[in-house]
Amino acid sequence: MSSFRSHPRLAAVAGLVFGAVVTVPFVVLTDQIERVVLAALIALLAALAAGLWAKRSRLVNEQRLVERREILKQAEGAERNYGALLESLPLVTWLYETGDRNATRYVSPQVEAILGYSPAEWSEPGLFLKSLHPDDRERVVARIEEAAENQVPFENEYRLIGRGGDVAWVRDLATTVRNALGEPLYGRSFVIDIGDRKRIDEERDRLLAAERAAVASTLERQRRLDLVREVAEVASWSLDSRDTIQRIAELVVQDLADWCVVDISDDGGSLQRLAVARAEPPGDAGGAPDEQPEQAVRAVFESGKPRVIPPLGESSNREGAESFLGRVEAQSVVCVPLSVRNQRLGAITVARTSRGHRYGADDLALVEDLAGRIAIAFDRARLYLEVEQRADAARVLAHVADGTLLLDRSGIVRLWNPAAERITAIRAADIVGRAAVEAIPGWREIADQVPASTSVDPAQSEVVVPIETEDGERWLAISAVQFFGGMVYAFRDVTEVRHLEELKADFIATASHELRTPLAAVYGAAQTLLRHDFALDEGGRDRFVSMIAEESERLGRIVNEILLANQLEAGRLDLEFEPFDAVELVERVVEATRTHAPQGISLEVNAPDHVPLVSADRDKVRQVLINLVENAIKYSPDGGSVAVGVDVRGEYARFSVRDEGLGIPPEERPRIFEKFYRVDPQMTRSAGGTGLGLYICNELVSRMGGRIWVEANDDKGSSFLFELPISDASVQRLSAEPAERRGQGSLARTPSR
Ligand code: ADP
Repeated sequence: MSSFRSHPRLAAVAGLVFGAVVTVPFVVLTDQIERVVLAALIALLAALAAGLWAKRSRLVNEQRLVERREILKQAEGAERNYGALLESLPLVTWLYETGDRNATRYVSPQVEAILGYSPAEWSEPGLFLKSLHPDDRERVVARIEEAAENQVPFENEYRLIGRGGDVAWVRDLATTVRNALGEPLYGRSFVIDIGDRKRIDEERDRLLAAERAAVASTLERQRRLDLVREVAEVASWSLDSRDTIQRIAELVVQDLADWCVVDISDDGGSLQRLAVARAEPPGDAGGAPDEQPEQAVRAVFESGKPRVIPPLGESSNREGAESFLGRVEAQSVVCVPLSVRNQRLGAITVARTSRGHRYGADDLALVEDLAGRIAIAFDRARLYLEVEQRADAARVLAHVADGTLLLDRSGIVRLWNPAAERITAIRAADIVGRAAVEAIPGWREIADQVPASTSVDPAQSEVVVPIETEDGERWLAISAVQFFGGMVYAFRDVTEVRHLEELKADFIATASHELRTPLAAVYGAAQTLLRHDFALDEGGRDRFVSMIAEESERLGRIVNEILLANQLEAGRLDLEFEPFDAVELVERVVEATRTHAPQGISLEVNAPDHVPLVSADRDKVRQVLINLVENAIKYSPDGGSVAVGVDVRGEYARFSVRDEGLGIPPEERPRIFEKFYRVDPQMTRSAGGTGLGLYICNELVSRMGGRIWVEANDDKGSSFLFELPISDASVQRLSAEPAERRGQGSLARTPSR
């Protein structure tokens, strides 16, 4: 039957066939009975068919009922399963009337786990809206309405406040469930707890932010480290503090500031602006700092305490910032004093002019670090200068001829210069660091005699004191200046001067004696000649007159010697160089001396036949020879021979005067050519003299280009020798002559004349 119901054409055909089968026999059969029988048969068949159909229909209905029950059962089972499934899902399934979350149809029990509300509580109208986090409420409501309007699913993440006040992050996937005709049935939301994910996200965001912050702070730190390193590098380069500090200021404005200013005090006095640097380019021209440090900077310098504006911990109080850098409109300022070794050197000021950039504790620490470095650079430059000045002073002391001794307040030797070493023969290494009284013999007595002046007064009193040294007694002219740290002594070696003075004193005594003796003789002779009561014969008169002449000559000689010595000393002596025959001169001198030589003295000449001409002042050579010969006679009280000679030594003519007299002790020999020096000033053995003769000889010979010396003879007495250059013409001739003709080659003793 169902096939007919579902196939109407087939049912129509079957109806037509059935109608034809029923109608056709009635057409064919003409007999009434037959027709009645047929009709009865058809009715029976129809009744049978109807009975069969009714039975089948009942069976079908029963079948359907069973099936329906089955389906319902299954549906219930499916719903139970669905419910179980929904309840086991990790989300809240929430069904409500279409478009109305206040009319809950169903909510799965998970709602309690997420929000603490039982499904029944959650079904209360208005709870959803109330539970929405205030920050999310507006947004979520707008989005729900928008989705409803556009008939699109709603999907969003937001926060719900649970029963206990806890905040739960959820993801809401909502849609309107529709039937087969597309008609809305109800609204359905799957509310998923995304708290964990959110926490992870938040944690990740936090970590990312922290990482970014760490990177930024590392970069910042790196920049700061770079700045510190660069500043340290610049500070170590140059010792020109102004240049260095300007460069540092320029480095600072690259990273840390729009303006950087450094003020330095000159030797603890007033602050001076040393460096001003500005970041490039500042955009607007803006104002500039003053030429001299502002009052606020001075205040920081004087207080020794840094200042930050706005003050650390205060967010916006930039009061006072404008007082730091003149007309610069600073928003934030750090001003830090520069100090080193407890000494205030100045201040560094950095400023930012852009809004929103304010200095913090880190910046203050950095500026303090830079301030330390600048202070050290500046201090180092100053120390270097000081050291250089001291080194200069030390160099001066090293080269000064005066001995210098520096004693500290406890009497310890701190400085002992090379001149002091030289004068006293005490090495600096043996004395510096020791007490002067221990290291310098007789220091206590010396110190007692030296008056300590407190100023370096050129007229300060200098005392002459003796000091015992390894080389014997030395005389020091010493003066002292007292100062804060101790005492400075300056001393000169006046041993020689003193000696000369002694010699001078001796000379005056000797010279007076030398002058007085002939004067007395002249005076006595003249008196005798003038006496009327006393008649003198011719011979007697002659004796007195010649005595007067001799003594006058002696007087004249002494006076001449003194005058000549003076001339030599003053450099006022003219020499006339002209070649002369040395042998002839020697002969003449001997000849002249012989006439008044005392008895017991024999004079001889030792000279070759020919000696080349000597280039010198003949008169002065004569004077030297006479002096030596007279000395030879004078210092031969027991008589003996005096040999005067000349010969050739290379390009020199060598003169010699040899005697057999007293001789000269070896230690005296180097000194006898000194002015006023006499071996026996008390004249215990020898005749008188001025001590000028040999001094004059030495001066004359060396001015004529020669040298003079004394040698002891093997047996007795001494030999005085001096050499003078032979004339150029002679030298040329000499070099052209054969060797045997030269004076040196034919040196021979000639018999005494
Ligand atoms: P003086 O006027 O005393 O002779 P000199 O300068 O001529 O001065 O001599 C210096 C000293 O040298 C003398 O005092 C003497 O002691 C010593 N002297 C000089 N010539 C001789 C000599 N030929 N023999 C020994 N001593 C001499």
